[in-house]
Amino acid sequence: MTGKNQWIEHEYFRTYRIATRVESVSLNPFNYLRELEALFLEDGILEFAPSWQKDTALHRLIRYIADDFFSEDTTGPTCAPWGSDPVHPKWILPVDLALQLYGLSDEPEFFIPEDRNIVQGEDGIYRQVTPPWVENACYERYQYLRLTQVYEDLLARIAEEVFFVMFLNRRALEGLNRHLAGHLGDIDPAYISEDSMGLARLFSGPGELKRVRPPVWAKRAVFYRERGRCASCRTDLSGLIDTFPDSNYDHMIPLARGGLNDLTNLQLLCGRCNLKKSDRITASSKHYRRWY
Ligand SMILES: [Zn+2]
Repeated sequence: MTGKNQWIEHEYFRTYRIATRVESVSLNPFNYLRELEALFLEDGILEFAPSWQKDTALHRLIRYIADDFFSEDTTGPTCAPWGSDPVHPKWILPVDLALQLYGLSDEPEFFIPEDRNIVQGEDGIYRQVTPPWVENACYERYQYLRLTQVYEDLLARIAEEVFFVMFLNRRALEGLNRHLAGHLGDIDPAYISEDSMGLARLFSGPGELKRVRPPVWAKRAVFYRERGRCASCRTDLSGLIDTFPDSNYDHMIPLARGGLNDLTNLQLLCGRCNLKKSDRITASSKHYRRWY
């Protein structure tokens, strides 16, 4: 990669909040089946099948979760103050705030209508409630944005940032890949529809993708994440003449178990540990070398 693609400018908009949800989903997917449903509808898992996409499985899940948050914001709704008057701010949706932060929009195009009803509850106590038409207007704004390119661009920026902080988390990546492997394992390439024949050719058999050598960019990313050490026994591999031999790059979830050819499914292992692990799934290591 050259030029500006090597650099990202972080705004850290909800980065850790999204990362926390993505981690929970990855480690306990069965608690989130309803939320994840749409991701795997109509063989959605096939979008994860092409090898070594720079738009990794994690990027896809992050966008999906970030979109979910924006949808949730419309109930309530969640408001962010906008404007130079701190006493009487206008209110905008977090998605409109994010568009401003990332410079994807010049001016907010939608302000949350200010209308509250005071309602007396059964207990005799009065409460402020948002009338349904306000939430509906917010939801319509969100639905409108979802069809636009700026929204796609926004999700892409958020995905880059969350990926940046989550790529270190082998356990979460392993959990995500384990879950995806469960879905991929159900795919029989013989039944993939004619117009997706290209996808069928990615498979070596039912529920198993063909082995494709990881490209140098993927190996480099994993090598630097592990800081040149075997993720299992910590052997220093940085002195090897060829630092990127295929035999050091292990699919955490093996292809034979439905694993993906995806950056998030790779770890650096010394030859001995890789041989020992073979086609088994072993828990990824929790240890990381200190920065200093
Ligand atoms: Zn080792």
